[in-house]
Amino acid sequence: MHFLRPVHVVGGGLSGSEAAWQIARRGVPVVLHEMRPVRATAVHKTGQFAELVCSNSFRSDDAEASAIGLLHAEMRRLDSLVLRSADRNKLPAGSALAVDRDGFAGAITAALEAEPLISIDRGEIVTPRPDWDSVIVATGPLTSPALADTIRGLTGEEALSFFDAIAPIVHRDSIDFDVAWFQSRYDKAGPAGSGADYINCPLTRQQYDAFVDALLAGDKLAFHDFETTTPYFDGCLPIEVMAERGRETLRHGPMKPFGLTDPHQPAIKPYAVVQLRQDNKLGTLFNMVGFQTKLKHAEQVRIFRTIPGLGKAEFARLGGLHRNTFLNSPKLLDETLRLKAMPRLRFAGQITGCEGYVESAAIGLLAGRFAAAERLGERIFLPPPTAAHGALLGHITGGHIETIDEGPSSFQPMNVNFGLFPPLARMPTTDADGNRLRGPAKVVAKKRALCSRALNDLEGWLAGALPAAAE
Ligand SMILES: Cc1cc2nc3c(=O)[nH]c(=O)nc-3n(C[C@H](O)[C@H](O)[C@H](O)COP(=O)(O)OP(=O)(O)OC[C@H]3O[C@@H](n4cnc5c(N)ncnc54)[C@H](O)[C@@H]3O)c2cc1C
Repeated sequence: MHFLRPVHVVGGGLSGSEAAWQIARRGVPVVLHEMRPVRATAVHKTGQFAELVCSNSFRSDDAEASAIGLLHAEMRRLDSLVLRSADRNKLPAGSALAVDRDGFAGAITAALEAEPLISIDRGEIVTPRPDWDSVIVATGPLTSPALADTIRGLTGEEALSFFDAIAPIVHRDSIDFDVAWFQSRYDKAGPAGSGADYINCPLTRQQYDAFVDALLAGDKLAFHDFETTTPYFDGCLPIEVMAERGRETLRHGPMKPFGLTDPHQPAIKPYAVVQLRQDNKLGTLFNMVGFQTKLKHAEQVRIFRTIPGLGKAEFARLGGLHRNTFLNSPKLLDETLRLKAMPRLRFAGQITGCEGYVESAAIGLLAGRFAAAERLGERIFLPPPTAAHGALLGHITGGHIETIDEGPSSFQPMNVNFGLFPPLARMPTTDADGNRLRGPAKVVAKKRALCSRALNDLEGWLAGALPAAAE
């Protein structure tokens, strides 16, 4: 067997651990660099690989009708160390996959330490050495400041964020267009728009007042201790903080009603308007412009559903504001997660703009497979966009659209969700007995069809039957 140079994986969290495992399983040597316990982060407590810093839940394990459960199933199929260790350490938690956190991290650590092709280096990496020709950076939301400085030097000041400012995202097909309408302010087309790019939801004065009251009274999350230096950039103040600054502040900010005419009631000028902007190329998801918030998730659903047109809104993502380190990946990374400006560096995990333990591990899995294939001189086949892995990768490397006007970039971390999947060619209309599907049964049937298509296409990909996906 000829000598293969190692791939260097920086960070032994959820993503880096999975990446190192996948690379070694392909017969390629790995050096896994982890700074703990030599150097701590603000939230990790141990020196174990893949330590879970907060909840012990991997969320729903339903692979037939939930996007995260589907991702679990795909990862099991792809020989994921993270899923295998989770399954071996699972705790009773209804339909969710919850784990004994010490048993889980212990199993991952033992597996990585026992793998002959993996060498472990405990220490902080500040700059990947120039002679490392294949590196995966998987240092997560709390990337050490010195390495973050190096990355910022490579990517530019604006391209690496240290806080997310997450506005909720709504599934377009859950918006009521008997109330809402498409129009850009003053019908301006902008560089990539048509003049009717925003979805607008109108509020009367009474509705606006009630909405502001609800924001002020709503339950909010506090910042963690290590986030106390969180700056409120004036461009991304939480909406409830804007509401605290004055009752009219929102109406002169993200909820301004100017330049818009409600086609359902052209003679009545709305007192305020909530705008939603297209978020993905597929056009299935729209983000609520300027609506970053620290309101608790249940409060967001309750309060935002009082907005006319959003009474039955389904949210692909709820809002938030956290300490987080992530790249403007759609701009900076190629389709196999390599930094365009320095292709020997690949990124994986939450730093690429996914969110959550499982999603980070899934992106680590792909980055590991891509790096191993590259080292072995093989062609890289991308996962099909209809599978959860492909849908998530698409969000990171290309599925998200840059802002269509002069507003700030809306690329923000995201969990896997069905809005990232290409729509079905044919929607299920009847059940197995031929009865017409309606209401919730129709939604479940759609999710089932998306899951079944994903698992089929994944098999095709594994069998090498989908080379076109890599073109
Ligand atoms: C406070 C907090 C709470 C969270 N709660 C949840 C939750 O409940 N559920 C959920 O799904 N997700 C949660 N997340 C997100 C979750 O932590 C991440 O999605 C996931 O851990 C990301 O995986 P990762 O591999 O990208 O990063 P991590 O798992 O953070 O791993 C990164 C690793 O890189 C190491 N590292 C950093 N810099 C260097 C360096 N320069 N050299 C060497 N090693 C380095 C770190 O020590 C760490 O081990 C939370 C995040 C935070 C910050």
